[in-house]
Formats: sequence, C-alpha cells, structure tokens
Amino acid sequence: MKTGEFTFTMIKPTAVRLGKLVPILHEINLAGFNVVAMKMTRLSRLQAEKFYEIHNDKPFFEDLVSFMSSGPVLAAVLRKENAVSEFRKLIGNTNPQNAEEGTIRKKFAISVQENAIHGSDSDENALKESCFFFSQFEIFPH
Ligand code: UDP
Ligand code: MG
Repeated sequence: MKTGEFTFTMIKPTAVRLGKLVPILHEINLAGFNVVAMKMTRLSRLQAEKFYEIHNDKPFFEDLVSFMSSGPVLAAVLRKENAVSEFRKLIGNTNPQNAEEGTIRKKFAISVQENAIHGSDSDENALKESCFFFSQFEIFPH
C-alpha cells in the first residue's frame, strides 16, 4: 500500500458499548473508504499507554489510558486517496462541541475524551499505528 493511500482508525470503547459500531462503519463506507484490515480487540493498560505515548505529559493521559483499556475497540486500516486528511475531515474536531455538522464525532461522541473514534494525524503515524495492531499478513490491500 502506498503512503498517502491509507489511514488507521479505532472505534473507541464507549461507541462500541453503545452499539454504534455498525452505524459508524456505515458512515465510513458512505464516505468512500475501503476496509483493508479489521479486528475487534481490547487494549491492556500498557498497550493503551504505548499507543498514546505522545500524550504522556498531558493532564488527560491517565484518564485516557483508563478509558481506552475499559472495553473492546474496533481497529481498522482504511484505504482511500489522501486517506489521512480525508478521514480527519470525516471524523471532525477532537471536541464534539467544536465538531462540524455531519461529522462522526458530532453524531456519536459523548465528550472530548469519549469521542467515538480515532484517526491518524499523519502518513507516518498511519503506518506506525497500523503496524501496532496488524501484521503484514492481516492487511489486504485491493
Ligand atoms: N483527549 C482528552 N482530553 C483532551 C484532549 C484529548 O481526553 O483535552 C483524548 C481524546 O480521546 C482524543 C485523544 O485524547 O481523541 C487524543 O488526543 P488528540 O489531541 O491526539 O486528538 P485527536 O487526534 O484524537 O483528535
Ligand atoms: Mg491525535
């Protein structure tokens, strides 16, 4: 898969618990993304700390790690042209109060922490995050 053509996403525990998995995947599908890898899994505290390590100096870090390891998540690699920026547009602002109308976070987030979904912020992180969850044999570009 070429750099720029894919991004990594994770549907967060609250959204899964509230039954929003399929509705969110439907939005992703309507926006023209193809799923090339997918798994439902649960992060340990250690894995959540590692995944969010760039935020380990932030005041919200401990709560974020507890939240992200509190239940199952859906992890996926998505393919589309300009995937990273297109997907960030689709999910909207980190804080649902500032998220644009029609975005996934506007529709499904319940707070800035429990904001329904993750999206990579750069091509470099899309690769890093995809490799954090999937081996090369679990990614099926088509
Ligand atoms: N977060 C939080 N409080 C904040 C900012 C962020 O709990 O004040 C959480 C939220 O779940 C967010 C994640 O930390 O999605 C990562 O933050 P980032 O700034 O990278 O936002 P994102 O890239 O997810 O929009
Ligand atoms: Mg981020």
